[in-house]
Amino acid sequence: MPGTSRKAESIHDFTAKLRRQGMWNSVRDYVEWQRALRHARRTGAPEPTVPDLVPLSINLDLTTACNYKCDHCIDWDILNAKVRYEDAVLRAQMEEMAARGMRSVILIGGGEPTLYPGFVDFVRYLKELRLQVSVVTNGSRNHKILEAAAWFEEGDWVRLSLDSGRNDTFQRMHHPSPSTLTLDEICSWIPKIKAANGRFQIGYSFIITWKGGTRDDVKVVENIGEIELAAKRASEAGFDYISYKPFLERAETGSEVMDPDKIEGHMAEVMRRIREGVDAARQYEGPQFSVRESTNLRMLMQNSWRDYTHQPRVCHMQALRQVLSPHGMFNCPAYRGVGFARIGDKDVFRDPQSVRDASEMVKALLDNFDARENCKDVTCLYNETNWWLERLIESGEDLDAVPTLPHNRDTFL
Ligand code: SF4
Repeated sequence: MPGTSRKAESIHDFTAKLRRQGMWNSVRDYVEWQRALRHARRTGAPEPTVPDLVPLSINLDLTTACNYKCDHCIDWDILNAKVRYEDAVLRAQMEEMAARGMRSVILIGGGEPTLYPGFVDFVRYLKELRLQVSVVTNGSRNHKILEAAAWFEEGDWVRLSLDSGRNDTFQRMHHPSPSTLTLDEICSWIPKIKAANGRFQIGYSFIITWKGGTRDDVKVVENIGEIELAAKRASEAGFDYISYKPFLERAETGSEVMDPDKIEGHMAEVMRRIREGVDAARQYEGPQFSVRESTNLRMLMQNSWRDYTHQPRVCHMQALRQVLSPHGMFNCPAYRGVGFARIGDKDVFRDPQSVRDASEMVKALLDNFDARENCKDVTCLYNETNWWLERLIESGEDLDAVPTLPHNRDTFL
């Protein structure tokens, strides 16, 4: 099929990211500890001390507050809760984790990050800690992105969740507040933000929805017909890229899953329409603008998505990438807010004792969270990386012989 590649999108090539200088040393420490732990358990020797299992990268949900009511929102059940951070404690957590190897923070879901009081100053604080920072926003408060723009560097990014090409579809999908907010208004901010600082990328995110998709009992608005129009709008507005992803639903286990079986009508016909839309979007590509197909969209269109539901028993990524929300710290973006995936409270990793306690909890999850079972319906973007880590641990391969890659500016996991 034109435009289709079996390779993961580079931002989802987590195995390559973990082999980069600046990341590899932490991964190597983890692999050596896992080898020592398994050896001790096999031989009956005393178990090695648990190291500081501080993640290299986190998703940070700054707030549960949101001014939209999106029909397709995956975090619907945890929005607008009366839980919030204490800013000073949150800063202490960031400092403690950055000092112990954390490299990047994605300010993202479970609420609209720009609604966090002091959002701009918090971005500045993260940058002063020399962390890479990205933001996923609904675009309704672009004055906050403009205020924060000066702090972003090359490799950082901001992505707006817009999911439509026409103003009326945008409003039907997102139910924004104020209700009169339009795509035209949101997009008019992009040139101003670019003029303030052109060093970081700004993306237009488009979750592709289809008839038959639901959030609880709510039927989502289909947007396949606007795939091309959104690319035209994004390129004309000055975005650096548009990114297409498939719609995910919350399964009964609490995990986020792709469920193409629920597509109404003939699945091949729906895939054909998506393919044609994305191919048509590519006419707008040029030196300043690109079209990205997310890894799980490629899997869906290649009908290979079930390959990524076969996980090893141990999910190693839960030690390397976690989700901090006002509801607590969780082991994976697919499990934000889910009790059995919880690592600790919202103030976890705030000081050395808290780091030790959380590391013990991560170890317990590594032992007890059976990814083969819990994630058997999840099309996991980390599947190949988890298998690579598992093989590295079990094979006893000389870690000095693992080829590393030069440092780059993408440490987001
Ligand atoms: S196996 Fe994948 S979906 Fe499951 S917890 Fe790990 S990273 Fe998340």
